[in-house]
Amino acid sequence: MKILVINAGSSSLKYQLFDMETEKVLAKGGCERIGISGSLLKAKGNGAEKVYEQDMPNHKIAIKLVLDALLDGEIGVIKSMTEIDAVGHRVVASGEYFKKATLVTPDVMKTLEEKTFELGPLHNPAAATGVRACMEVMPGKPMVLVFDSSFHSTMPPKAFLYGIDYDDYKKYSVRKYGAHGTSHKYVSQEAAKFLGKKAEELKIVTCHLGNGSSITAVDGGKCIDTSMGFTPLAGVLMGTRSGDIDASAVEFLARKKGMSHADTVTYLNKKCGVAGVSGVSSDFRDLCAGAEAGNERCSLALDMFAYQTKKFVGAYAAAMGGLDCIVFTAGIGENTPTVRADVCHGLEFLGVRFDDKANEAKNDGSIRVLSTKDSKVAVLVIPTNEELVIARETAELL
Ligand code: ADP
Repeated sequence: MKILVINAGSSSLKYQLFDMETEKVLAKGGCERIGISGSLLKAKGNGAEKVYEQDMPNHKIAIKLVLDALLDGEIGVIKSMTEIDAVGHRVVASGEYFKKATLVTPDVMKTLEEKTFELGPLHNPAAATGVRACMEVMPGKPMVLVFDSSFHSTMPPKAFLYGIDYDDYKKYSVRKYGAHGTSHKYVSQEAAKFLGKKAEELKIVTCHLGNGSSITAVDGGKCIDTSMGFTPLAGVLMGTRSGDIDASAVEFLARKKGMSHADTVTYLNKKCGVAGVSGVSSDFRDLCAGAEAGNERCSLALDMFAYQTKKFVGAYAAAMGGLDCIVFTAGIGENTPTVRADVCHGLEFLGVRFDDKANEAKNDGSIRVLSTKDSKVAVLVIPTNEELVIARETAELL
């Protein structure tokens, strides 16, 4: 059985084609900088890599390019689309509409598009575009939605409830759902395996730091709290998202800027975060280059990001009553040493001994240890593999 997994993020689109008998990756790649200048697709297959530098104004064009790469005479691994048995799609927000992996039907698409976009305005439209583009190119092929929020379903009410009228929570289902659950689940399980312990024995804080970022407290293998909320706008500031902000400041800003409710939410999702603070870019590579060149607002954006992330690590250590392991993952977590150092420095009181030299080593795609031998808390970099979890859940459903 061959399963194609599509992971459409806000500015990126990753894919992997799995042979499920061996769980071997036959082909993989990713589109970067979708919707911004300099977009490209790096595709691997047949032991070779090809880079397609092509304008990708939207996700539909990105997916078409991916499918062409799978059929490519040189790096392609299939002869026709019929070789693919099903497609698993990562979906960020499910609300209370979907509790587990779900086969796509017209009704499911209707619910996805009509009910969940407002819960994940940056990601769910991208995911739905991905599903529709695949349905066009591979008519009749089973499509499965795998939701990020499933892993967060173990949060207790004291963690997922907001301090609003309880009747309103019941009536409108306004509560914390969290996101990136597939990634938090994968890296926390990998951390336990790597440390040679059972997940039940460990208190782990997983930091998924990418264009969208979330931090999760995993106690005994289960999520007990997470930084994202009703939508992926909450938590730390991100590429273009504000993160947590006083609701009164939102109303005040809307009034001052003459924005509607919808425009204000779009503003908070697309014009804020490190892009808004720096005035330079949402991309951490650009911010690091800016800070190095002496741009103070780039430095400020980086400082804010690390400071806010560090506060969640401390809060979750308190919530779990201890800390055994911190995991960094995703684009920034795996590739940006300055952020990891700024988060971990100062956490010695929790038993963290950070190895600055190990932190500077190049990302080779393996699990890396950033804590010293005498550190009570293991600090790890674990490349996330949301795609494998999605492929497994897709295959299981079929
Ligand atoms: P998302 O999937 O939410 O779009 P990613 O997990 O791909 O985001 O993370 C994107 C972020 O990771 C960007 O801010 C980018 O600057 C940062 N990053 C830093 N170094 C790298 C790298 N070598 N490869 C990819 N992303 C990187």
